[in-house]
Amino acid sequence: SPAVADDGLAGLTPAQREAAGQAGAVVVLAGAGTGKTRTLVAGIVDRIVRRGMAPHRILAVTFTNKAAAEMKSRIATALGAERAPYWVGTFHAHGRRQLRTDPDIAGLRPGFDICDAEDSRRIVRRLLEKARDAGIMEDDDGETFRRRVKSIATRIAMLKEDMILPEQAIISTEGLIASRKLADPDDIMAWRDAAALYPAYQAMLREANMADFTDLLLWPTVTMLRDETYRQDWAARFDAVLADEFQDVNRLQFLWLRALARDHGELFVVGDDAQSIYGWRGANVAIIRNFLREFPDGRMIALEENFRSTGHILAAANAVIAGDSSRLEKTLYTASGEGAPLEIVSWTGSLEEAQGIAAEIGRRAAEGVPYEEMAILYRYNFLSRIVEEQLLRSKIPYELVNDTAFWQRAVIRDALALLRLSCCPDERQSDDAFRRVVNQPARGIGAKTLARLEQLADEEAVSLFRAAEMSVARANGKAARRLQAFLALVRSVGQSEDPSLSERIGRLVEESGYADMHRAAGEEGRAALENLHELLELARDFTVVEDLFDHAALGSAKHGEDALGRVKLMTIHGSKGLEFGHVFLLGWEDTLFPSRANPDQDEERRLAYVALTRGRRRVAISWCAWRNGRPAGANSFIDEIPAQAKRDGWAREVRRNPRFVKRQAGSLADQIAAMGF
Ligand code: ATP
Ligand code: MG
Repeated sequence: SPAVADDGLAGLTPAQREAAGQAGAVVVLAGAGTGKTRTLVAGIVDRIVRRGMAPHRILAVTFTNKAAAEMKSRIATALGAERAPYWVGTFHAHGRRQLRTDPDIAGLRPGFDICDAEDSRRIVRRLLEKARDAGIMEDDDGETFRRRVKSIATRIAMLKEDMILPEQAIISTEGLIASRKLADPDDIMAWRDAAALYPAYQAMLREANMADFTDLLLWPTVTMLRDETYRQDWAARFDAVLADEFQDVNRLQFLWLRALARDHGELFVVGDDAQSIYGWRGANVAIIRNFLREFPDGRMIALEENFRSTGHILAAANAVIAGDSSRLEKTLYTASGEGAPLEIVSWTGSLEEAQGIAAEIGRRAAEGVPYEEMAILYRYNFLSRIVEEQLLRSKIPYELVNDTAFWQRAVIRDALALLRLSCCPDERQSDDAFRRVVNQPARGIGAKTLARLEQLADEEAVSLFRAAEMSVARANGKAARRLQAFLALVRSVGQSEDPSLSERIGRLVEESGYADMHRAAGEEGRAALENLHELLELARDFTVVEDLFDHAALGSAKHGEDALGRVKLMTIHGSKGLEFGHVFLLGWEDTLFPSRANPDQDEERRLAYVALTRGRRRVAISWCAWRNGRPAGANSFIDEIPAQAKRDGWAREVRRNPRFVKRQAGSLADQIAAMGF
C-alpha cells in the first residue's frame, strides 16, 4: 500500500543497514543510543516488506511493558497499524499466550488465573503458617516472618528461572549453593527453605488453577525441550524471532527463544553488556557474549556512533562505565556537539531536592520544553513518593511509567475479586476472591465463620462460595440474610447475559454495598471511588474477562499509550531503552546508590551508565546532604565524571542552617570514629 513509505532501511547507517537486512542469526552488540532498537525495528520491517514474511509470523520480544508499547508504535509508524505484527510484547505476555493455548502443559485447566508477586507471597505465607502450626518451624515475629516469606518467594522464582523443576529442587539447590559458593548461613537457609517449599507451592498453585509469572514461560519452555512435536508446532508458527535488550535474558528466556528459532536460525538479537542490570534476577550476561558459540554461523555486528546524546553526556557515561572491567570494550562517539555540561545539584534534604526538581521542571516547561520530554529517574521505587507530592503541589502533570501500583490497590483488587467470583463461583480457584470480599462490607463473616466454611468446603469438595450457599440455606437471622443477598447477587451477575465487563463490575460494587462502604468513608473513600471509576472506564476496553485479569496481573499500562503532556517518573531499571530530552537523576548519594546491598557493585555502575545515557540534551544529577534523618553525600560516580563535562547546577548551595551544621559536624566525628582513628 502507498502508506508504506520506505523499506525500513532508509536513514540507517551502513552498519545498521547491514544488521537489519542480514538473514540468519545476528547479534548486534553495541553501546547505548547507537540505534540498536531502531535497527531491530528496521529488521522487522525489512523482513515483512522486502523478505515477504507475514506480520503475524514474526515474534519480537522485549522486557518492559513500556518498551513493548514503544516498539509497537515504532513498527506501526513504519508499516501502518493494520500490518503491525501480532507477536510483539514482553516475555510474560508471549508466555501467557502460549500457556493459554495449552494450559495442560502446566497441569492447569482453561481459564486459569495469573497470580502476581503479591499472590505468590500469600501462598508462601500460608505454607509457612502451616509449617509453623505443625511445629516444624519456630515462631517468628511479624517482621522477620514477612521478610522470610518474601525471601522464599523470590528464591522459588529464581529456581524456576534456572529451569529447576519442583521435583529436582532439593538436589539442585544443594548444587547451586556449592557452585555459587554461598557462605552466609541465612542465605543458605533461605535457599533450602525455598527448595523445601517449592513442590508444595507448585501443588497449591495447580490446585487453585493458578500460574505465577515465571510459570508463564517455564512450562512452555520445559515442554518444548521435552516434547519435540510440541516444540515444532510452536516453532513452525514463526519465520523470525527478534529480541531487544538481550544482555538481560536469563537462562529460561534464552532457552525459550532458542527453541522457537532453532529450526530456521532466524534469531536477531541486540543488546549492550554494559547495560546488564538484572543479574539479581538471574539475567546472565554471558549469553550475549557467547552468542556465537550457540550460533556458529551467525554474525556479530558492532555499532559505534551514538545518535542520542550530547558529547558531555557521553563523556560522563563513558567515564563511569570505565570502572566496570567485566564489560567488553566498545567505542562510542557522537557527531553532535558537546552540548551543555551535566548539572550537579546538591540539597540539604530530600524535600528540598523534590521541591527543587519540581521548580526546575516548571521553569523549563515555561521556556517551552514539553512535559513529556522530561523524565525523573531514581534507584528505588520508594523514592518517587516525595517527588510526586511536589509535582502535584506544583500542578505539573506526571505519569509513573511501568507502574503496577494501580492494580495492587486494595480497592481494585476487591473489585476484580468480585468479578472473578461472579465468573466462576463454583471453582476453588475463586476461594481467594471469596475470602477477600465476603465480609466487605461486614456481613458477619468473622474468622470463626470462615473457618467453618473452609471445613465444609473441604468436606464437600466444593468452593467456599458454594459452601456458603449451602450453609446459609440452613441458617436464618439478619447476618445470614445479608450474606444470602450477596451470594444471590454474585450468582445473578455471573449468569447475566450482559457482555459488558464494565457494567458487570458496576453492578457488583453498587448492589453489594461495596461502593457505599467507601462513600461512607470520607476522604479515603473518595480516592477509592475515583479508582473504581477509573477501573470501570478501563474495563470498557475488554470483552473477555481473562484478558482483563491478565492485563491486571501483568501490571500493564493503565492508560493507553498516550502519555503526552506528562513528565515521566520511573526507576532506572524501568527506563531501559527509553530516551528523554531532559533527565533528572535524583538521590545520587553514597548511602543509597551504589546500593551496598548489591553483591555485584559493577552492576550499580552499569545502572549509572543506563541512567546517564537516557538523556538526549540535558542531564541533571542531584544528591542530598541528609536523607531520612541520616547524613548522606555525593556518590563516587559524580566524582568520576570528568570536570569539563559537569558544572554546579541550578540549586542554591546546601543551606547552612545551624542545626544542619551541628549535626553534620557530629556525623563527621562519627564517621572518623567509625574509620577507627
Ligand atoms: P539503548 O541501548 O539505550 O537501548 P539503542 O541502541 O537501542 O539504545 P535507539 O533507541 O535505537 O538506541 O536509538 C537512539 C536514538 O538514535 C533514537 O532517537 C534513534 O531514532 C536515533 N537513531 C538511531 N539510528 C539513527 C540513524 N542512523 N540516524 C539518525 N538517528 C538515529
Ligand atoms: Mg534500545
